[in-house]
Amino acid sequence: MADHATPRVSLRGLRPETPRGTGLAIGRTHAPPPYPERMLVLGIDTSCDDTAAGVLRGPREILSNEVASQYDLHAAFGGVVPEIASRAHAERVTRVIERALEKAGVAAADLDAIAVTNRPGLVGSLMVGVAAAKSLAFALDIPLVGVHHIEAHCTAAMAEHEDLDYPFLALVASGGHTAIYDCRGPGEVVVLHQTIDDAAGECFDKVAVMLGLEQPGGPSVSRLAEGGNPKAVRFPRARVKDDPLAFSFSGVKTAVLYYLKGPGGRRDAPDRADLDVSYADVAASFEQAVVDVLVKRSLDAVARRGVRDLVVGGGVAANRRLRADLAAKAPEGVRVRFPSMGLCADNGAMIALRGAEMLAQGITSALDLDVSPTGETVS
Ligand code: ADP
Ligand code: MG
Repeated sequence: MADHATPRVSLRGLRPETPRGTGLAIGRTHAPPPYPERMLVLGIDTSCDDTAAGVLRGPREILSNEVASQYDLHAAFGGVVPEIASRAHAERVTRVIERALEKAGVAAADLDAIAVTNRPGLVGSLMVGVAAAKSLAFALDIPLVGVHHIEAHCTAAMAEHEDLDYPFLALVASGGHTAIYDCRGPGEVVVLHQTIDDAAGECFDKVAVMLGLEQPGGPSVSRLAEGGNPKAVRFPRARVKDDPLAFSFSGVKTAVLYYLKGPGGRRDAPDRADLDVSYADVAASFEQAVVDVLVKRSLDAVARRGVRDLVVGGGVAANRRLRADLAAKAPEGVRVRFPSMGLCADNGAMIALRGAEMLAQGITSALDLDVSPTGETVS
């Protein structure tokens, strides 16, 4: 029997009166809540393969941060399948929102605003989160704010580092992005140097497949690497001709494949018979090659820009070797700021954090908020 008898998210506190006109007021934007230091913001992210929701109180206090990952659904396909991702978001988003509210001890009617990722990402996936956010904002008659996913990664560390302020540089390394951003002020985030091919996290995921490890590849490669020698194999640290601070990771991924299978080797070919190092050594050497590039380029960018703070975000920011090497190699006077583990990969709390910052700036979105795969549209 269909289970629509009990609403999963309590909408108690709905305004009883019917709005005038069509009742939809699609193009209307709400004023932001008047007391930003105490406001409760629900953040929703369904940009890629994680269904995420979190609740924030005031500008920094994270009350909950719930994520339902989909790695198991996509593992057999060697990458995220957009249709599977959006269907899974549609099945899970209400439950994840409900869990975020429950964990935070907050009723939907207590919320002051809804923040949602509307760009960049997979369009079908983004639409699920945005539709859920619009419905809640409309039903609760509270402001909606559309958030740029990368801006949220850049600002995630601000919740836990109270002295962190603009301007700073941000290294965002995830499954879909790897770039250094100039964060000049709230919402003033400019890409400086980016990957010309694979993202760092994507490379971890593909190397994990080669090593027969489970997805997500980052944590499993990293775990295996702990017992290996990072100097066992010298994998390439590619340089990009036109921009010495840009990234290129497709070469290191292919180098690992050829190292395991022999030159020109295919993914499904057996490993070389004369392989004389362990998988742990391969994992550690690969990880070191990626980390060396991320560390060198971001510290060079910091030196070039003359800023004091480097913020790191995205799933790869959870990497232990990256955290240790960046901290060890940062010159005196440069502070490297990592978010805690739960704020690195895609999550709803970081969307609420950036949403709260936007609300404090007086920015809200109308109910006709659009989605954008590239992130260029700002509405
Ligand atoms: P996306 O937006 O692409 O889903 P996320 O910010 O959710 O990116 O990050 C997921 C990516 O981070 C995956 O590619 C995953 O392998 C990578 N990742 C997660 N933890 C680690 C780690 N400890 N080391 C390296 N990569 C990691
Ligand atoms: Mg993700």
